[in-house]
This record gives sequence, structure tokens and C-alpha cells, in this order.
Amino acid sequence: MNGDYDLAIIGGGINGVGIAADAAGRGLRVILCEQNDLASGTSSASSKLIHGGLRYLEKFDFALVRESLHERKILVKTAPHLVHPLRFIIPLHHLRRKDFLIGLGLFFYDCFGKSKEFARSKRIAFTHDNADPLQSFIARGYEYEDAFTDDARLVITNAIRAARRGAKIANYVKCIDATRQQDHWQITLLSQFNRTTTTVTAKALINATGPWLKETLNASLHGESQYNVRLIKGSHIVVPKLYAAPRAYLLQTQDNRVVFTIPYHQFTLIGTTDIEFKGDPALATISDEEKHYLCNVVNQYFQTPITTADIVQAFSGVRALYDDNAADPAKITRDYKLELSGKDCPLINVFGGKLTTYRKLAEKTLDLLKPFFPHLPEAWTDKQPLPGGDLPGSFSQFCEDLAHQYPWLPSSLTQRYAYQYGTLCHTFLNQTSRIEDMGQHFGHGLYAREVRYLVENEWAHTTEDILWRRTKLGLQFSAAQTKDLAEWLVTNSNCS
Ligand SMILES: Cc1cc2nc3c(=O)[nH]c(=O)nc-3n(C[C@H](O)[C@H](O)[C@H](O)COP(=O)(O)OP(=O)(O)OC[C@H]3O[C@@H](n4cnc5c(N)ncnc54)[C@H](O)[C@@H]3O)c2cc1C
Repeated sequence: MNGDYDLAIIGGGINGVGIAADAAGRGLRVILCEQNDLASGTSSASSKLIHGGLRYLEKFDFALVRESLHERKILVKTAPHLVHPLRFIIPLHHLRRKDFLIGLGLFFYDCFGKSKEFARSKRIAFTHDNADPLQSFIARGYEYEDAFTDDARLVITNAIRAARRGAKIANYVKCIDATRQQDHWQITLLSQFNRTTTTVTAKALINATGPWLKETLNASLHGESQYNVRLIKGSHIVVPKLYAAPRAYLLQTQDNRVVFTIPYHQFTLIGTTDIEFKGDPALATISDEEKHYLCNVVNQYFQTPITTADIVQAFSGVRALYDDNAADPAKITRDYKLELSGKDCPLINVFGGKLTTYRKLAEKTLDLLKPFFPHLPEAWTDKQPLPGGDLPGSFSQFCEDLAHQYPWLPSSLTQRYAYQYGTLCHTFLNQTSRIEDMGQHFGHGLYAREVRYLVENEWAHTTEDILWRRTKLGLQFSAAQTKDLAEWLVTNSNCS
């Protein structure tokens, strides 16, 4: 890992890897360090929506909504395996926002997000037949389209994009010190596995540590910022499927927020909350109050009630929002701010942002770096497919072709590979012609061949890396199956 780089990036969340990929693609020598696993911070705890954010229109955040919807259009094209249009229903509730206000908001949303991939919104009436899960007092609503992704896989895929263009990606490596020398940064990195330190140098440094931004800036970079961050915890619960249809619901809450119910593997994902947070972001967990809050919102709309006993998984993430002095946590801007300092060896602090806008954020970061790297080529990430996204035709055609090419694979597995890896799945399916070629079966369609691919190509080290971020098989794996996988990892790779 020793070496001399143009750009060092601290933080392997979506913003860090997005910047790494863009910079490496423009010929910079890049190193990215992540203290834990890639996407182990906020970037695997989001609602997984690639969206404009309908409710930001209420705050007149038109620029953010417009930019996000533009990014949605780019991502659905460049990552067609990872970013999928999804139909959303907004049930109208007589005690919540006025019908015409929602209609007006959707009118703007349609105008800003106009594209052939996303259908226009429309007003609907509920039939209350067997397929309709809503309570009978809800007579009308709206339908609109947004997009859903796998946040952690979007991070990993961008890391692959960066590595393919020469970036060094080092997970489980913490930046413990970065000191400005005359014309470069001297950066000390600590391996979390063997506790050894390494020193690298870089001309420019990016602090993309999300909720750890201030701590990293003060403790490791010996710096300060003119901006403040607000740490806001958001939690989700996962429950057995609330309804069969592949659609999401946007539920308006009594406290003027919104809660989504989103199809999530064989389950429904419900979130989120907005709660001021203090302490170590790594320790953020859902409280009983949040669990009850989310269940209560669902029970105000759906026929079949849920209780906290139905929760099969819960997770919390901490938004590091750029502090615009809003009193209500839900009303703080979701826009980002980039703070540049230093004349010869720059530092850029990344404040706030959304999963949706990471690509644009990376481009703007590179714009700020241009004076320090005068021969930097033009932006490129809006046109090139992300790794695995180079599909010859539509995504559904790709799924069909894959089933045809590997007829011996169970269809559920072909589907999972298509959604998770796109064309990257050929890397480990290559030269296989029967299920036995896939090696040891750990359960739920996880075979040794895929695990080996993840260790060798996607920086996976632990069972958690594999079961919760590279795949979501953790939702199904038993303790005994996880133990088998852990043992295999010890025997077959240099990691635990
Ligand atoms: C509940 C919730 C729901 C959300 N839903 C959506 C949504 O649906 N759509 C959307 O667009 N956005 C959503 N967001 C916002 C989005 O998730 C975040 O904006 C985004 O993930 C932030 O990415 P990041 O890279 O800045 O931070 P992170 O993902 O937190 O990455 C920062 C990384 O830095 C690492 N790090 C910290 N210190 C060091 C160090 N010293 N050395 C090395 N590494 C270090 C951390 O381990 C961490 O992995 C949501 C956020 C939350 C909390």
C-alpha cells in the first residue's frame, strides 16, 4: 500500500467511492481507505431510493429535486441492473396534506423528471378488492414512479469501477493521521486486521467520512471547518410482506413527515425516522419508540395490522446533514456542500448529500480539484455503464438470456445474480455447466464459487461483508449456515 498518489480519499461510502471512480477514470493515481467494510456506514442503511425527493418540493428545494431527478435518469441507464423504476402509491388521508398540494407537487416532479423510463403520475381511486391492502376509508390517491436500488451494491460497484481504472481500494484500513507537508499530504493508515501502520503521500485529500466528518477532521487531519453538521438518525424495520404487488407506498404521517413501505426481497422495508443523534455513528440502533412509531404509521393505512413482534430485521443509519439551522430534523436540507481549503495541497470536506446525487457530487469535487491538476480530462461518468451494467438490451432481456445460457441454475438464483451483478456474474459463472461446478453450497443459493469471486474481486473479508452488503442473504441465513461460511473463509482465504 506504500506509495505516492495524486488523490487520497478517506471513507468508503457512496461519496468516497464515487469520487475515487471519477478521479481514477480521469487518470489520477487514487487511494481510498475505509476503516471498516465498504458501505458499512450510512451507505448501507438508506431507504435505497434513487429519487428526487417529492417532499423536498415542500421546502422549495427545487434545485436539489431537479438535480436528483436528472441523476435518476443517468443511473437508470448506466446501472440498469442496479437501479429499477418502481411504482409508488400515495394514499390520500383527510387529516394530512391537501389533495391539490400533492397533485401540484407531482406536476413539478413529472416536469423535472421527464423521461421515457418513468411514467407520469396520475390520480387514482382504490377499488378495495382482494389485491388492495389499504383500509376502506382511503378512497383516493396518486401514483407516481421513482427508482429503487441496492445501496451497498451501488457502493461496491463504484469501487470496482475505481479499481478497474487503477485506484487502490483498501477496506478495513483507517486513516489515523494526515499532515500537510509543503506540497503534499503525509497520511498514516492503520490496518484493522494486523494493526500495522503504513504511510502514503498524496497531493490532494478528500474527507468523505459522512457522519465521522468532524471527528476525522479534528482528530486525524488537525483541521477545523466553517460549516457544521447535524447528525440525524434514521431507522428502518423489515417485516414479512405487507402486500404482494411490486409497488411502494408513501404514507403521510401525523407529524407531517413521510414513511415508505418498499418491496424488499421476500419482505417489506419500512422507514424512516428522523431523530437528532449524538455519539458514535457506528453504535446507532433503533429504539423501541421508533419501532412503535413505524408500526403505528403502517397501521393507520393498511388493513392487516403489524406489531413490533413482526420485525425480522431493523437497521439505523446516521445522516450527516449540512447544518442549515432548520429547527425540525426532517426539514434540514439534504443537499451537499463541498469545502475546499489549502493552496498547494488541497483538502476537500464533503458535507451531506444523498445516495442519489453521489455521481454529481463526485463531478463537482473533481471540478474543485482542476486548478491543482490542470490537465484533468473532462467528466465521463454520465455516459459509461457501471461495471455489470453493460447489458446488450433491456434488463428483462438480460434475465431471459442468462436463464437460457445457464439453464441448470434455479431461476431464483439467475434472478439474484442478474440484479446483484448484472454482466459481472459471468466472471464466476464462466466455465460452469452444472450446479456441482459451483462448489460447496452454504444455503439459500450461496455457493463457494460466488464467495470466492466476492473475496477476490469485491474486497469481502467477513461473513457480514458477504451476507449483509455484497448480498442480502443475511435475511435468510441461520447461525449454523453463517458458521459454515466463516469456517470456509478461514480455510480458503487469508482473512477471518
Ligand atoms: C435512514 C436514511 C435513509 C436514507 N435514504 C436515502 C434514500 O433513499 N435515497 C438517497 O438518495 N439517500 C438516502 N439517504 C442518504 C444517503 O444514505 C447518504 O447521503 C449517503 O449514504 C452518505 O454517504 P457517505 O459516503 O457520505 O457516508 P457513509 O456511507 O457513512 O461513508 C463514510 C465512511 O467513512 C468511513 N470512515 C470514517 N472515518 C474514517 C477514517 N478515519 N478512516 C477511514 N474510513 C473512515 C466510515 O466507516 C464510513 O463507511 C438516507 C440516509 C439515511 C440515514
